[in-house]
Amino acid sequence: MWGEFRRSGLAIAPFPEKLGGCGLIESDRQGNLCTVLRLLGAGDLSIARLIEGHINVIALVCRYGTPAQQASLASDVRDGALAAVWGADDAAGLKIVTRDHHSELRGRKILASGAGFVMRPIVTAKAGDDQWMCLLRLSPDHPVDLGGWTAQGMRSTATGAIDLTGIPIGPDETVGAAGDFMRQPYFSGGAWRFCAAHLGAMERLVELFRQHLVSRGRAEDPYQLQRVAVCVAAVRTARFWVEEAARRFGGEADPEATVAFANMTRMVTERSALDIMESVQRGVGLLAFIRPDPIERICRDLSTYLRQPVPDLAMSNAARAWLKSAAPVGEF
Ligand SMILES: Cc1cc2nc3c(=O)[nH]c(=O)nc-3n(C[C@H](O)[C@H](O)[C@H](O)COP(=O)(O)OP(=O)(O)OC[C@H]3O[C@@H](n4cnc5c(N)ncnc54)[C@H](O)[C@@H]3O)c2cc1C
Repeated sequence: MWGEFRRSGLAIAPFPEKLGGCGLIESDRQGNLCTVLRLLGAGDLSIARLIEGHINVIALVCRYGTPAQQASLASDVRDGALAAVWGADDAAGLKIVTRDHHSELRGRKILASGAGFVMRPIVTAKAGDDQWMCLLRLSPDHPVDLGGWTAQGMRSTATGAIDLTGIPIGPDETVGAAGDFMRQPYFSGGAWRFCAAHLGAMERLVELFRQHLVSRGRAEDPYQLQRVAVCVAAVRTARFWVEEAARRFGGEADPEATVAFANMTRMVTERSALDIMESVQRGVGLLAFIRPDPIERICRDLSTYLRQPVPDLAMSNAARAWLKSAAPVGEF
């Protein structure tokens, strides 16, 4: 599927036209990007995860990087390179150490998707209290450790640990200014993208549920009809939220409200996904747990991919933002 992705031109599509893409990351194309991520999520959540990370790197480099960094990334992507954002740290963290006017990385990244085949990752690294983004060019034989990736689902994301000690860091590698990685509303507001991938998987699950009920002659049962109604309403609810979050992300809305809306979108999407999985699994029964039924794979991947950073904080920050604002609730 990765080969198809490269051949399809989707790898380069996020770049602006002047760099050979079709501007999929631009503000007025967020609706198109949402559709792409939904369709990818419906096909395979692991591929959707990898491509979402790839798109995030292109967005970060186009927003904060120099023209030379943008051109070099676009050229590598045209030649087949995949990008990823590796932010998660172990207890020691990844650092930039400087000695005799020479800076290099010390430490490793964990939970790095695409470890072993991503050649252009952005990694976050600390220099003192400052957090920097470093755009690396890794060689294909750079050692990775996938031994710890024994997750229930999303196994084909090849999410692992990678030691980056000794990689030189100069002006060509550092992207933007210290603190840009977590600059709002882009950092939290961009969460709508993984919600879109989750939504695609939910849509596919509900379609599979329909096929199952119809093909087995079980669609007229009132209990199953109730489950179908719950699923359709949950998918549509998530879709309204995700598409609105994408629209606001690309628009001129107040940054705090954009972040709060994305945080609430995470909450709504997660709840919808959990409700749908419960309904589909109860409505289909044991078959939903037997490989190679696609319902089994999607539930396994979706349950794993739903685990995103600090969901409680995202939800409570959104609630705080509304309490603090003067906006009527229907217009927040
Ligand atoms: C398939 C997959 C691919 C991934 N790929 C990447 C990647 O390429 N790059 C990358 O950087 N990361 C990646 N990650 C990691 C991801 O971004 C998150 O860091 C990870 O999924 C967080 O999961 P968690 O449940 O451990 O989060 P946590 O934030 O630890 O949340 C677990 C629970 O603890 C609560 N909690 C969190 N902090 C506190 C606290 N201080 N006090 C009390 N409660 C707390 C949360 O609200 C939640 O209820 C990937 C994850 C997955 C599943």
